[in-house]
Amino acid sequence: MVFGFGKKRGPEPPDDDDEELELVLFQGALSGAETDLASNARLVQAGLVRAKELVSDALSRRAEMLRLEPKGKASIATFFVDGVPYPGTRMPSQAGLAVTQMLKLLAGLDIQVRDKPQKGGIKAEYEERPFVLRLNTFPVQGGGERLIVRAEEPDKRLQTPDDLGFSNDLRHKIRELAARKQGVLLGAGGPMSGVTTLTFAMVRSIDAYLYQIYCITDVEGRDLGNVSVFKTNEEDTLAQTFGRAERAEGDVLYIDPILDAETCKTVLQEAEEICFVAETRAPDAANAIVQFCKWTGNPKLVSEQVSGVASQKLIRLLCRRCRKAYRPNPKLLAKVGLPPETKVLYRPPQAEDIEDDEDVCSRCGGVGYFGRTGMIEFIEMTEDMRQVVAGGAAADAIKAQARTEKMQSFQSDGLRLVAEGKTSLEELQRAFRGK
Ligand SMILES: [Zn+2]
Repeated sequence: MVFGFGKKRGPEPPDDDDEELELVLFQGALSGAETDLASNARLVQAGLVRAKELVSDALSRRAEMLRLEPKGKASIATFFVDGVPYPGTRMPSQAGLAVTQMLKLLAGLDIQVRDKPQKGGIKAEYEERPFVLRLNTFPVQGGGERLIVRAEEPDKRLQTPDDLGFSNDLRHKIRELAARKQGVLLGAGGPMSGVTTLTFAMVRSIDAYLYQIYCITDVEGRDLGNVSVFKTNEEDTLAQTFGRAERAEGDVLYIDPILDAETCKTVLQEAEEICFVAETRAPDAANAIVQFCKWTGNPKLVSEQVSGVASQKLIRLLCRRCRKAYRPNPKLLAKVGLPPETKVLYRPPQAEDIEDDEDVCSRCGGVGYFGRTGMIEFIEMTEDMRQVVAGGAAADAIKAQARTEKMQSFQSDGLRLVAEGKTSLEELQRAFRGK
């Protein structure tokens, strides 16, 4: 093994038999910028192999993100696998600097600039799979930079309601609301919450054979299925673009994120004529509604035009190969709110299940989890909810009303995933504890 993993047991690369780690291939800057390796021969000498080793180590452990930052005389790497941080390698700060500069060079960034944030990307290939490595650098106090690398595997992106584990109820709900051909369906979430994926899956829940769905937002290479891209004219205002989509017999319009009062007002005014699907930034569904009320200063309009808001929290999926079944005791079921007839639940393997290295699962590297899905809450603007919202209610009152009407919540959807054996009670607790 190339790097130790400290005390906390991290995922091990599959088939890790002291073989040489296969190294990632860097295939140029995402921006298409030329990277001048020849005039940076010393940097290449000091940084290229190390950068390859670090990135390969992260990819071999399925890390979706890698952070490298200076701490005293060392540079410390942290890998994030399914949202959980694991300590990665430590290296002397000079080596860390060389890796950071090398990756910046490969991404076509300015290696002379170290006191301002920069971002870029590198095309890469690892184990014959294409990756996009998205880089962000930030200056840190005391000099040096923090480097964040996000690894995206374009072929493996979650994009359908199935990938995201939408419940059947939720799918029906979204279809039903979109079928009205008016109103606003929102996906709400913070940065890195997967809100774009969530909103995209909402669009994909709508039957594109039955309804004319137009898309006027950048879907970053996601598969649109039968959704048509709607050509926008640069000189048109937002309202004019919406008007053209309506005249082109659009039923549903998937638009850019709604991030300001002006856009919010325009969308709500047009929502009589066409159904909008969009994402917005808010910690959860209730707060998205409150934000819309603030932006428009018109809770009544929001209550009339917003038809439903989804939000999600990501949760790790149990590894299918090594999850262990157990019979839950009735007290536990009652305590967590699972039906008393639940016969079997699953958990990751624990220390006592693993006697020697042979028992370590080759799929998940012994973590017990593999991949993530969303726990999804959905607030529907029912008649009763409409009155609560129109009265200018706070987020807590909206949440209380959603509970009264037994709408799908993070809690209820998370418990469904537990009952279906897709995740564990421990992971559910972790997901609610962790931010
Ligand atoms: Zn496993």
